[in-house]
Amino acid sequence: MARPVAEIASYHAHVYFGPGQEEAARRVREGVAARFAVRLGTWWTKAVGPHDGPMFQIAFATELFATLVPWLMLNHEGLSILVHPNTANQRRDHLSDALWIGPALPLHEAALPEGEDEPEGAGEPNTAPSLEP
Ligand code: ZN
Repeated sequence: MARPVAEIASYHAHVYFGPGQEEAARRVREGVAARFAVRLGTWWTKAVGPHDGPMFQIAFATELFATLVPWLMLNHEGLSILVHPNTANQRRDHLSDALWIGPALPLHEAALPEGEDEPEGAGEPNTAPSLEP
């Protein structure tokens, strides 16, 4: 049985940055904020959850996938970005059903819960876009 796309409540893009990549990550963040109504997350300077290094999260509605993901493909500045769906199964979303822009990085499986949860929504946008994608 095929899984329906309606399982996907929202998406995350996690933009990773290593030493010397902070400026590039800042440009990606500002470029997204200027063009898309998304929820930008905390600027993490250490690894958190399943993520292997510093990163920030972009939470976005399913309607934005077809414009935001291509924009990130063309403007990721060499950074690694994990794009994953938010369904009821976070573990599967991150480990098996995600896509990478740029080089894939390790994920810490132990930090991902087993079993099913209420899927995470995109949250209220905290950007005020003024430019076209
Ligand atoms: Zn995520």
